[in-house]
Amino acid sequence: MIKNPFYRFLVSIILLLALGCAVTGPGGKKSFILIGSDTETSIGQDMDQSVRQQNRILQDSLWQNYVSDIGQKIVEVCDRKDISYHFAIIDSNMVNAFAAPGGYIYLYTGLLKSMDNEAELASVIAHEVSHVVGRHSVKRLQAAMGVSLVEQLVLGQSSEAMRAVVNIGMGLTFASYSRSDENEADNYGIQYLVRAGYNPEAAVTMFENLASMSDGSPSFFESLTMSHPDTQERIANSRALIEQMKPLPSNLAFGRETYQKMKNRLK
Ligand SMILES: [Zn+2]
Repeated sequence: MIKNPFYRFLVSIILLLALGCAVTGPGGKKSFILIGSDTETSIGQDMDQSVRQQNRILQDSLWQNYVSDIGQKIVEVCDRKDISYHFAIIDSNMVNAFAAPGGYIYLYTGLLKSMDNEAELASVIAHEVSHVVGRHSVKRLQAAMGVSLVEQLVLGQSSEAMRAVVNIGMGLTFASYSRSDENEADNYGIQYLVRAGYNPEAAVTMFENLASMSDGSPSFFESLTMSHPDTQERIANSRALIEQMKPLPSNLAFGRETYQKMKNRLK
């Protein structure tokens, strides 16, 4: 660690300039991000190990491949390709999904059972990929870590600093994102959905469906429906965006038949 406060300050500034401007959205939107992609990936790998230790992963390779294939379709059209993305299904009746830093995305069987078609599944995946593109979990992590831990991590990944960060990250798994990050993920998600050939109406039916079955618990799809007006606003925003994007390509799919077959396997 650099002791001289002036040099420390200088190093921080240089790091900020070097790493600070990451592209985090469609149209080249940039955000100030301190944790670089390599570090983010290391954090994600460690968190993935913890997630796999603490949860039961669905033992159905057909389902795991199905979700990964749809995931990669979304990744192909997304605005962040400097990391590789990983998709996994957790065998649990929780109606939820989340993204860890570094492109690690998890969906629960409870959520899969609540869906009607492949486009709805793609809409949730696109939403989670968008959190990764926007580096939202890294931003949230940075904010929770405090300056000294961010600095330790940025100046060199000591194993203690890394352990501390992974613990904080695990604690934040179901913490809610800021409203603006959530709106951003909804917005990018719908654009990626269309680019990947899915009907964006599925994003709306997904919200409506979840809103109707919500039990209000904090673990319910990123606390999506905890406050009802927010959900209604998100539905309205999604509808408005779809209107703006018209005319849409004519062959956008829902993929209901395949999805219903896959869903039968979960019973
Ligand atoms: Zn979200």
